[in-house]
Amino acid sequence: MISFEAARAHVIERCTPLAPVEVGLDRALGRVLAETVVAREAVPPFDNSAMDGYAVRAADVATARSDRPVRLRVVGRILAGHPLAAEVGPGQAARIMTGAPMPPGADAVVVVERSEPVGDHEVDLFEAVAPGRHVRPAGDDVALGETVLTAGTLLTPAHLGVLATLANRQPLVVPRPTVAVMSTGDELVDHDGPLAPGQIRESNRPTLVAAATSFGLEAEDLGTVPDDLDRLRSALREAATTHDAVITTGGVSMGDVDLVKVVLAELADMAWMQVAIRPAKPFAFGLLDGTPVFGLPGNPVSSLVSLALLALPGLRTLAGRRDLDLPRVLARLTTEVGGRDDGRTAFVRARLEWTGDEFSAHPAGRQGSHQLSASADANALLVLDGPASSGDRVEAVLLRDPFANPSG
Ligand code: AMP
Ligand code: MG
Repeated sequence: MISFEAARAHVIERCTPLAPVEVGLDRALGRVLAETVVAREAVPPFDNSAMDGYAVRAADVATARSDRPVRLRVVGRILAGHPLAAEVGPGQAARIMTGAPMPPGADAVVVVERSEPVGDHEVDLFEAVAPGRHVRPAGDDVALGETVLTAGTLLTPAHLGVLATLANRQPLVVPRPTVAVMSTGDELVDHDGPLAPGQIRESNRPTLVAAATSFGLEAEDLGTVPDDLDRLRSALREAATTHDAVITTGGVSMGDVDLVKVVLAELADMAWMQVAIRPAKPFAFGLLDGTPVFGLPGNPVSSLVSLALLALPGLRTLAGRRDLDLPRVLARLTTEVGGRDDGRTAFVRARLEWTGDEFSAHPAGRQGSHQLSASADANALLVLDGPASSGDRVEAVLLRDPFANPSG
């Protein structure tokens, strides 16, 4: 057996980030930025008003009070996108809207709530303002030449706004890896009709495609390949040339028709591992003409755990991510959990709930690697190296957002 850490490291060492490409902002969310972004413009690009009101010379309104206004002559109206060329001279003001450029001469804004128009061309202002009041100076958010984003940044919605603001609508990013998912096994059917003797319903592909998608990858379902050497050979070759990575399930343990093992051994530079974890002990990884291939076990729970713990760090390496693993938190067990003393780390499917100041953890029913329905509701995997008691604080791998859709 190989330790979990060694198996994970083996995968990561053999995966390299995909070549960066320029994409539109509609394709950039969740990708890793592959360039450093330096501001070629100041943000905002010009001094502008933060409020609707009157642009003034602060000195002119120095004596204004709520009961003793200062009267100024209104020389124009400035809307966002429509600068006023004329200067605001002494004794003058300009009506100004939020985001509109400050006119030459003015250095502050009195808000409209503290004003009273007098006829068509004058205004009474009831408040003294200091120079700069309600003015957003050019470069207030980003200065010209400032480094705003660095390569390696995982792009969030706000980052996309920053890129747009900085005239960078085609950022260079590491693309999301395209991942081919195929299952193998003569017993598998993917229809809802009657089962012939010995058949079972294929369930790993929908699970793995959805899980991979939820982990930020672009997964494609390539169907089921029968236990047949030629069919497996051509399916794997094809998948490896058309995708950035390939995931197979089934056929990698010790059975007589575990042919994925046979074919990959012949086509690719593979490592066959017995990883010291439960579930998901069998795991294969290798490169088929440079394309990473992950041979996951066939048991439904195992294949999902294997994807989340062992394939994901490699796939995220392809994506240029620095957060290779699912996040881990501490959680308080609400019940005891038995353990086996066999040197394997157990990843126990569990339901985490936020109680207000910590997570509580309830193991999710039956833990057999074929018993997917018992763990379908699990949002975490408890990491246990032996038995644990109720009240123990244990580490948990978050399979998804633990705050989404809490039960009860
Ligand atoms: P294998 O590793 O191919 O021997 O598969 C281990 C177990 O998982 C067997 O009971 C298979 O029938 C089952 N299995 C394999 N692949 C799938 C799949 N895609 N969907 C559901 N069960 C599967
Ligand atoms: Mg099989």
